[in-house]
Amino acid sequence: MCAANERTAQNPSGTYVDEAVAEDNRPVVGRFAPSPTGPLHLGSLVAALGSYLMAKSSGGIWQLRMEDLDQPRLVTGIASDMLATLEILGFRWDGEVAYQSRRTEQYREAARELKSRGLAYPCGCTRSEIAQIASAPHEDGLVYPGTCRDRLPPGKAERALRVKVSDEAVTFEDLITGHYSQHLTGSCGDFVIHRADGPYAYHLAVVVDDAAFGVNQVVRGADLLSSTPRQIYLQSVLGYATPRYAHLPLVTGPNGAKLSKRDHAVSLAAGYDLARQGGALLLSALRFLGQFPPPALEGAAPGEILQWGVASFDLSKVPRLSAPFYPD
Ligand SMILES: [Zn+2]
Repeated sequence: MCAANERTAQNPSGTYVDEAVAEDNRPVVGRFAPSPTGPLHLGSLVAALGSYLMAKSSGGIWQLRMEDLDQPRLVTGIASDMLATLEILGFRWDGEVAYQSRRTEQYREAARELKSRGLAYPCGCTRSEIAQIASAPHEDGLVYPGTCRDRLPPGKAERALRVKVSDEAVTFEDLITGHYSQHLTGSCGDFVIHRADGPYAYHLAVVVDDAAFGVNQVVRGADLLSSTPRQIYLQSVLGYATPRYAHLPLVTGPNGAKLSKRDHAVSLAAGYDLARQGGALLLSALRFLGQFPPPALEGAAPGEILQWGVASFDLSKVPRLSAPFYPD
């Protein structure tokens, strides 16, 4: 049994639970956190709108965060283009925009804490070494076999810092998709929180940021559903509260595959005259989220449409299934 178990809240059945949520009566703090690796597209619009409506319809606040840690993949100017696009579409965020690239010290501190408590350890394995030992590959990659858990093998240089996971199931109730449970040992094993030659991992950065900014409601695309247990696990070992999660249906292309940022045909700024078509795009996105804006809103300004959305948003109507998105 790994040391992580001693530090983590468990219920009698031995599963990790988001128990902090039940006691949390604070106002909703939501966020939209795009990666500036490509322009906002229809999928980003749905994520922005869904997170905005869920925060604002309960009188909460909506923060904006740029997940710009992966420097080689960043595209110059995209972050400011994203902000401009959101503004044309009527979105107003609360507080300053946060940039992950400016918060490395906070991630380093969290990693240092996990290491000093014996919850994270250096790993010297290459990907091919892991592939040779690992059991069947999982959807998110290979299950790490724990080679370096007790010590870095002699002659190996540190390639990554991994966090020790436990055998317990991580369980949570998604506000849209419902009950979700995952055993990290079987789905990914001890996972990377920092690469020696790269940035801090998304999972670590996102939990440090959500805790630092008081985020208690995470609304994002369903492609991140299976990574949520890793984040809940990190929250539990770092002593952070676990936010409520809501995973939105994904926007797919006609072939059923998730829309990619590489697909420039769906770039909002390049594909649409936003000053003229912004309202229509928002109405389409509302319908995609299962809402029924009245015909009187056709031709209305984005701000007015968002106002209707906030006043009328019905979470129970948001579909669970991903679907193609065809703006009118
Ligand atoms: Zn290793």
